[in-house]
Amino acid sequence: MPRIDNDVKLDFKDVLLRPKRSTLKSRSEVHTTLRVDLKRSFMFRNSQQKYEGIPVVAANMDTVGTFQMAKSLAKHCLFTCIHKHYSTEAWREFADNNPDIVSNVAVSSGIGQNDFQKLCEIITAVPSLRYICLDVANGYSELFVEFLKKVRHQFPDKTIMAGNVVTGEMVEELILAGADIIKVGIGPGSVCTTRKKAGVGYPQLSAVIECADAAHGLGGHIVSDGGCTCPGDVVKAFGAGADFVMLGGMLSGHDESDGEVIQKNGKKFKLFYGMSSATAMNKHAGGVADYRASEGKTVEVPYKGEVTDTVLDILGGLRSACTYVGAGKLKELSRRTTFIRVTQQTNNIFGMPT
Ligand code: 5GP
Repeated sequence: MPRIDNDVKLDFKDVLLRPKRSTLKSRSEVHTTLRVDLKRSFMFRNSQQKYEGIPVVAANMDTVGTFQMAKSLAKHCLFTCIHKHYSTEAWREFADNNPDIVSNVAVSSGIGQNDFQKLCEIITAVPSLRYICLDVANGYSELFVEFLKKVRHQFPDKTIMAGNVVTGEMVEELILAGADIIKVGIGPGSVCTTRKKAGVGYPQLSAVIECADAAHGLGGHIVSDGGCTCPGDVVKAFGAGADFVMLGGMLSGHDESDGEVIQKNGKKFKLFYGMSSATAMNKHAGGVADYRASEGKTVEVPYKGEVTDTVLDILGGLRSACTYVGAGKLKELSRRTTFIRVTQQTNNIFGMPT
């Protein structure tokens, strides 16, 4: 008989953070907000390496996780998971010209035989790379765990991000198999159709709360991957206990995103697509067919110019949230978070807020 878990699981859209009395002091509210420290430092469980930065991460999608994006995000101390389709030569050239930025990026890999070989080649070419992102649609397979162990064995001091999963027991298994940061999220992505195609998924806020608890119990970390549609969602992911928050759609459509600007009826757009969409399959023919179990969407997103404005908007939202709940640092945000369940997020009488 099928089992039904009757506990309610929540998404970002189901909650708001409750404001809290604060002892944060400054002559003006603006000053208080600006003083909020968004940098975090972590010591990773398995690699024993240290991280310091603002833990907002560009997704390893080929429209978002570009070298250009890494350069712009690094200026704000943000992190980029570079997509897996750059050649070893392109990596070498990037590293030669941007040695500081390399410490703020991850090289991504799938779990095929060729993927392992290419990963080894890139790390040999760029030994200063400190992070590896192992990304599969379904992080529950034995094959994935075996691949993770192999990568951990080969690179004992690299920090490994691995996923995607949404439940505590698999978070624990991946950490024990050698991962440092677990990617959490199945189905919440803006161009993902897993829930529609496979009927599988887990509301992202609850997934983050449960997976963070499991990871932190073992001294591991998590990245909330997918589902953030606005700075407030990024706040909620951190409030729920995410150590890092990964963004795809919110960083799409910028100058740093790959692809040409499309002009239509006097408006500008850029193409954005899931890594298992037909667009991605065609572009990387043969290379991504097995990457994602289900298809992703292809959409035209409004052209947004330089990513800096979006980054400042996100960081502004995070700082503001911290002051509302009395957190002087991002580190304190989850400790000071009480979520309230709501039936409405915004007042849309004059249209949806932009
Ligand atoms: P977003 O920030 O756009 O909501 O979500 C980004 C995340 O969506 C990515 O980091 C990745 O985990 C997921 N994703 C990207 N492409 C696809 C796809 O084609 N199919 C599925 N199921 N997920 C995708």
